Order: sequence, then C-alpha cells, then structure tokens
Amino acid sequence: MNHSPYWNGQAECMSAADTARLHDDKLRTQLAYVAAHSSFYQRKFVAAGIDVGAIKSTADLAALPFTEKSELRESQLAVAPYGHHIACAPAEVRRVYSTSGTTGRPTYIGLTRHDMKVWREAATRAFWTNGLRPGQRIPLVVSPFVVAASYADAFEQIGTSMPIGVNMTDRLIDAFRFGGASALLCTASYPLHFARALQERDIEPASLGLKLILAGGEPGASIPEVRRQIETLFNARLMECSGNGDYCAMAWAECEERQGMHFCAQGIIHPEIIDPDSGEVLPKEKGVRGELVCTSLDRECMPLVRFRTRDHVEVTHTECACGRTGFGIRIIGRTDDLLIVRGVNVYPAAVRDVIASFAPATNGVIEIQLHHAPPKGWEPPVHIKAEVRAEAGDLAALAQAIEARLRDKLIFRANIELLPELSLPRYEYKAKLVRELYR
Ligand SMILES: [Zn+2]
Repeated sequence: MNHSPYWNGQAECMSAADTARLHDDKLRTQLAYVAAHSSFYQRKFVAAGIDVGAIKSTADLAALPFTEKSELRESQLAVAPYGHHIACAPAEVRRVYSTSGTTGRPTYIGLTRHDMKVWREAATRAFWTNGLRPGQRIPLVVSPFVVAASYADAFEQIGTSMPIGVNMTDRLIDAFRFGGASALLCTASYPLHFARALQERDIEPASLGLKLILAGGEPGASIPEVRRQIETLFNARLMECSGNGDYCAMAWAECEERQGMHFCAQGIIHPEIIDPDSGEVLPKEKGVRGELVCTSLDRECMPLVRFRTRDHVEVTHTECACGRTGFGIRIIGRTDDLLIVRGVNVYPAAVRDVIASFAPATNGVIEIQLHHAPPKGWEPPVHIKAEVRAEAGDLAALAQAIEARLRDKLIFRANIELLPELSLPRYEYKAKLVRELYR
C-alpha cells in the first residue's frame, strides 16, 4: 500500500530543471504527432507561417497561435462528430464526453485508451494531493461533471467508487449513512445545498461521517468564510481541485498546506499564464494574474496546442512545505462570466467572495441582477441581492458596509438588497451568480 504523501513523488516533486527537460522532450514529440495527424493544426500552422520543427522547447511556444474553444466547436460543425482536430483513427476513440455549449449543440471530446490512462494518472495525483487515501469510499454522482468517468478511474486507483444516479439525493445520503462512504467530489456550491437537503430530512450534516469534500468545478471553495462554514457543518475537510474536460479532467489540487492548487499534471499538459488582452506570456511568479493556457504533452485523440481555458488565475505560490514542486494557482473567475462595469473587469465570483467575507452576517448566497441588456445592464450602481442570517443586525448599515467594500476592493458601485436566508434559488451544481432579467 502507498504510504507516501504523494501518489507519484517522482513527477510531483521533480526539480524545475527536470520538469522543463521533460516538457521540452514531450512537446517536440507531441507537436510532431499533431503536425502529422491533425488537419486542423496543419491548416492552422500553415496559415500562421509556422514551421513546427523549429519549436524546440516550451519557451518557443509563444510563436504558436492559440486554440479557442469556438474553433473546436466550428471544427465539429464542419465534420461531425469529432471535427478536423481529431488526430487518431475514429475506431481508436474509446470514450466520448460531450459538453453543452451555449450554441445548443454539444461539443465532443474523445479519448483513446492511452488518453484515458494519462488522464487517470493526473486525476489520481490530484485526489491524493487533496488527501484521498486507500480505504475511503466515495460516491460518484455521474452527471454534473462531463468527465465523471475519469474521476471514477482515479477513485478506483486509490479507494472505492460508488456510482449513483443524478438527482438521487436520498441514494447519496444512504451511501453515507449505510454504505460507509466518507468522501465526496462536488462543486463548491453543492455542500450548502446538500446540507439543506439533509436538514429537511432531520439529519444532522455532521452526523453523516463525511470526512473529505473535494470541491472543484467553480471558484468559491477557497473563500475562507465559506470553507469554514462548510467544514463546521459537516465536520469535514474541504479541499479544492480543478481541471476541465477540454484540456485535462483534473490537473490541479490543494495539499494540506492549502495555499492554492498545485499543478499536478507534469508530463501530461504544459500550462502557461498569459495576459488575456495582449496574449503575452507572463512569468509563473507569486501574485501574477492572467488566463490559463494549456498545451497537451501526451494525448492521442485530440491534442490541443495553447488552448485558452478562459480560467483567470492567480499564482499563489511556487514553493511548498509539502515537497511538491508544481506551482500553485487560485481561480479568480471565468472570462465567460466577466462583467465590464464602466471599463472595470468584475468577476461575479469575486463579488461573492467580498460579500461572503461579511460572514456570519452573510452566507455567501448572492444574485447579481442585470435589468437591461449589456452594455446598459452593467452600468453602476449594479443591483445585487444577498442573503443575510437572522442575527445580521442593522441591515441598512450592513448594506452600506458591503457597498463600500465592493467599491474599495472591486472598484465598482453596487446597490445591495439584503434578503432573509433561503430567499434566493439554490443550485445543485454550479451556482448561477448573475440573473439576466431582460431576457
Ligand atoms: Zn503543497
């Protein structure tokens, strides 16, 4: 049995020089494969006047064009179902995930047997980093994550997975009460929803035996107030992890030090952080903020070159007492959710962070109201509803204090409307923070 603090210490604690060498070697091999097998990239490289053979290291990546999600969508509209960017024979595709787009037509992500093994390795490192250990049983709620099957593979490398259907809250509760489950993978907003479902059934959340909550899929788990609230409710540890179905199902995870999520996918993807406006590559130094861009290093079906993830991140650390060498990040928000209020970028998740910091008066449940279509809808004061607890005290003073802190921290003017707890809708999966009332 593995008693090490790492699933794969060789990869996770590799020196910076060794990681760079590994990534340079894998990048050259991956690019040669892409240039030989993907008509999407063949065309893209020709259009950009790129000789892929001249790319020798990850430092040369900046010469290559980015890949946008919209290009992958268009590629699949042209050639169904896999698009021009498939780089293996269709018969070699062993698993297909679909992600729902805003266009009403799903995009498909294919994996070969090799790709499945590689993603399983990255997810296993991440869950181990989060503290999952042999003997733990973890219910697998199949649907909210398109890549849930990859997670099952990883759970089964470490502990025991217990597949459960979607929207079967009672079955999920039973897995803990009668099936000995002790861990749960969910979005950051799910634990509060789950706690409410338990309380409605007169079950004390802390009595469930839940020890470890792996929270991924959306920012929010790292807000200290929200984390404390969830940990107290369940008497469990809450650890953050992240990845996505396009570039790698699970690639980032917090260790016990909880400074931010370590990069765990050494040799599998190469991450860059860029200025989202200029496209310039930024250094991976503490405090640097930018968009995460990922390049596949070991993928057969749909290798991606400089894929723009739309995740905006901050580098939290480059050294850690746990011994892992992968740099750390925290996700600030997604470009897709970004509101621009009089030229100032406002991430709804950041608004929630600020309001949640007034806990215990607030509980972190908010809704940003857009009464008119953009750009008018984003004009200050931005109308925001926020829930308060019964013990919140003087509501007028609280609303004023929140407005002042939003102005101070996020540089926009808000009009806060405070509501009693449970006034706003709860979401089983990702919380919807913005309501477009003009639609
Ligand atoms: Zn660490």
